[in-house]
Amino acid sequence: MRNYSTTKRVLVTGGAGFLGSHLCDRLIADGCDVLCLDNLYTGAKQNIEHLLGHPRFEFMRHDVTFPLYVEVDEIYNLACPASPIHYQYDPVQTTKTSVHGAINMLGLAKRTRARIFQASTSEVYGDPEVHPQQESYWGRVNPIGERACYDEGKRCAETLFFDYHRQHGLEIKVARIFNTYGPRMHPNDGRVVSNFIMQALRNKPITLYGEGSQTRSFCYVDDMVDGIMRLMSAPAEFAGPVNLGNPIEFTVRQLAEQIVDLVGSSSSLECHDLPSDDPRQRKPDISLAQERLGWHPKVQLSDGLPKTIAYFDDLIRSGSA
Ligand code: NAD
Ligand code: UDP
Repeated sequence: MRNYSTTKRVLVTGGAGFLGSHLCDRLIADGCDVLCLDNLYTGAKQNIEHLLGHPRFEFMRHDVTFPLYVEVDEIYNLACPASPIHYQYDPVQTTKTSVHGAINMLGLAKRTRARIFQASTSEVYGDPEVHPQQESYWGRVNPIGERACYDEGKRCAETLFFDYHRQHGLEIKVARIFNTYGPRMHPNDGRVVSNFIMQALRNKPITLYGEGSQTRSFCYVDDMVDGIMRLMSAPAEFAGPVNLGNPIEFTVRQLAEQIVDLVGSSSSLECHDLPSDDPRQRKPDISLAQERLGWHPKVQLSDGLPKTIAYFDDLIRSGSA
């Protein structure tokens, strides 16, 4: 039942996580009524504590693998651990979160006729033979490897989104998000940017996996949230999938050197074993996002890293990390 308010009611699953909490900030700033849902598996109340007293913000502790009955106009489905150590800790739950979570949120969208966004990932391309990756590329994923719980879970979620779209006429929006970084990343999530910054701030050795010759492209969180929101408000016929990420590619070694330099750290670089199925190269082709959403990232790594370093520095100084 619609109430008498015309304020848009928006559900953000995974809203207490890194990306989700920034998205909640933007939605509140835009005047939406935000229901932030999270089971706090990798997210934290600290990420949203500044929003807790806001009259248009509500937090609900809930696991998306269970059905949810609320009345909303839009759904952003971000719930899912995103860093390899977190999603590999309980791989069965990771797949359930992507697959059962998608079914539950799509069911909710079907009943409420809400438009629904899915946070998919560049991991659907696996260890790609095509470079840079375009949306038309079907990917190269090991279905039984240690990353499969995440990669295949997200691939199945995409399948579900497009089947609900075709079968039930749902308005869906699917973004394939490439490596994103910024304040509110979990300090111990093992992702490369957070790991290297924490190690550099503590003057500990920087853990390069392999020789550090693998590549990634790093998008600052503000750019990513802007891309996600542009996709949500794009015309209904544009469902995606669309790549969102920064196309400027760095080796992991270059990233380490830049962080050590910016921190002014005495950390040395130390090579470790490369994790299994670690993609060797990754860089988004963002022409579709540019053409259909008028979107391209604006924040250079050299501008985004200092803000992220300042965030982790505060965490360490306040004893929170
Ligand atoms: P994150 O771990 O900070 O956020 C995920 C949030 O989902 C957390 O708050 C966590 O507690 C919550 N969550 C996990 N399982 C849940 C469940 N079963 N029920 C309810 N809540 C649950 O990660 P993030 O970087 O903010 O990623 C957000 C989304 O974006 C994820 O779906 C991720 O796969 C996707 N993504 C992120 C990146 C990136 O570089 N950050 C890249 C590609 C895709
Ligand atoms: N990586 C690294 N040292 C670390 C953490 C990660 O060299 O301490 C590498 C990792 O092997 C991968 C890249 O950095 O090649 C990005 O890792 P991350 O976990 O951030 O993201 P993903 O592999 O999912 O892109």
